[in-house]
Amino acid sequence: MSKYEGTCPRCNKTHYSNRKGELVICDCWRHCPLCGAEMVVYESDLAPKTYGVDGKRDYETLLVCNLHSPPFYGSQKPVEVTCS
Ligand SMILES: [Zn+2]
Ligand SMILES: [Zn+2]
Repeated sequence: MSKYEGTCPRCNKTHYSNRKGELVICDCWRHCPLCGAEMVVYESDLAPKTYGVDGKRDYETLLVCNLHSPPFYGSQKPVEVTCS
C-alpha cells in the first residue's frame, strides 16, 4: 500500500509513493496536447530560440509531435509531483 500521494497540477493524475516527499515525474508532459500521442524529443541544436539574445545556450527540452502539419512543438517541462 502506498501511503503518500500527490496530484499532478497539469493533468490531475494522482501518483502514489511509499516515501514522504518523494518527487514523481508525471508523464503527461510527453503527450501532445492536441492529439494525445507521445511526442519525441526534438534536437535542441536545431530548435528555434536555441540561442538567447545574450548568447546563453538554452537547454530547454523541446518535444515535437510529427502528426501535425506543421509539426507541433511543445516546450512543456516535466511536471514534478511531490507526494505527501
Ligand atoms: Zn500530469
Ligand atoms: Zn499531436
